Amino acid sequence: MPETIFSKIIAKEIPARIEYEDEQYIVIHDISPEAPVHMLVIPKKQIATLNDLTPEDTALVGGMFLTAAKVMKKLGYSDYRTVFNCGPGAQQTVFHLHLHVLAGRAFTWPPG
Ligand code: AMP
Repeated sequence: MPETIFSKIIAKEIPARIEYEDEQYIVIHDISPEAPVHMLVIPKKQIATLNDLTPEDTALVGGMFLTAAKVMKKLGYSDYRTVFNCGPGAQQTVFHLHLHVLAGRAFTWPPG
């Protein structure tokens, strides 16, 4: 799989504002936030999109949500939105799986 901006952040080749990191995940602040808090939960395993998941990734994806909840609790947020964009038509721009986690403002539905 080709390198992306996120694999370079994971490798510490380029800087990012890191909120949390463990063996499996890194959580960074989005460089172009859409809410007062906008973080990205990124698995260190390189997977391009949701369409590339296999059954062996089940725990990895579940862990992305547990990581989001852990970080949001640490920051004092119980209400937040989580989003996966899958594919260019859904505005995915970085082809390394990531979960957007947004908080700190009111959200509307449906999303744009
Ligand atoms: P998506 O459009 O769903 O693929 O989300 C990619 C996100 O990565 C966007 O919200 C970008 O603002 C964000 N992004 C791109 N480059 C960086 C970077 N160097 N550091 C942090 N966030 C980034």
